[in-house]
Amino acid sequence: MHWSFSILEVGVIPGVPLASHLPGAPPDLLVALPCYCFLLTDGPHHVIVDTGANARASAAAGFTIEGDTSALLHEGLRACGVEPGDVTLVVHTHLHYDHVGNDTCFPKAEVVVQRSEVRWATGPGSGPYYVEVAKFLEMLGERVRTVEGDVELLPGLQVLWNGGHTPGHQSVVLTRPSGPVCVCGDIVPMYANTGIVAPSCPRTAETEHFLETARAGGWEMIPSHDPELRAHPTCIGKP
Ligand SMILES: [Zn+2]
Repeated sequence: MHWSFSILEVGVIPGVPLASHLPGAPPDLLVALPCYCFLLTDGPHHVIVDTGANARASAAAGFTIEGDTSALLHEGLRACGVEPGDVTLVVHTHLHYDHVGNDTCFPKAEVVVQRSEVRWATGPGSGPYYVEVAKFLEMLGERVRTVEGDVELLPGLQVLWNGGHTPGHQSVVLTRPSGPVCVCGDIVPMYANTGIVAPSCPRTAETEHFLETARAGGWEMIPSHDPELRAHPTCIGKP
C-alpha cells in the first residue's frame, strides 16, 4: 500500500511580512499567506499533518485569519471522501497557533508531537505564537503521544526532528513509488526556502542537515504557507 496525499487550504493569514520568510524582501512588504492541512492516506490509515489556525488563537497571537477554518477543513476532508472520525493520527510539525487550531475536529485521533517541542512550548521563553499550549495539551489529554527524534509512525510514514524554526520542529516524510515526499512544516514555509533558510528559522546545523538530506535524496518538498502550493495537483479548497 502506498501513501498518497491531499493539500487542504484552510484559511489565509493577511499582513505577514514577506521578509520573515524570504531574505532580501522589502521589510515593509506584507503578504497574505495560506494555511494548509495535509491529509495523508495509505488506504486503511488517514493522517492529518497540522490543523491550521482558528480565529481566537490567531487574535491572541496578534494576527487575523480569513475564512471559517474548521468548516474549510471539513469541506476539504469531504472532498477527499474522508470523515473526521476516520482520522486516527494527527501530526504536528510544531505547536504554533497556526498549526494547531482545529484539533477538536478529530476527537479520536492520537496527536503526535516532539517531546522537545512540548517542553519548549510550555516553557517561559516560548514567545507569542504559542497560545495557551498547556490548556491545549490538557484538552487532548492521553491522546498526546510525544516522540523523540526520527520515528516511523506507520510503514512508509516517518517524522524527522529538524529543530530550526522551533526547537522541537519536525517534518513528515512519505515513501512513494515516485520518491519521497516531505511535508516540511515551517522549516520550509515557501518553495524558495528549500534553497535559502528562512529568516524565521535560525540557521542551525539541524536545518542545514535536513535541507541537504532532502536535496541529496531528491525529495519533493511541500512548503507550509506558499500561495504557489494552490497550483499543486493535489491541492483542494482554493478560494
Ligand atoms: Zn506556520
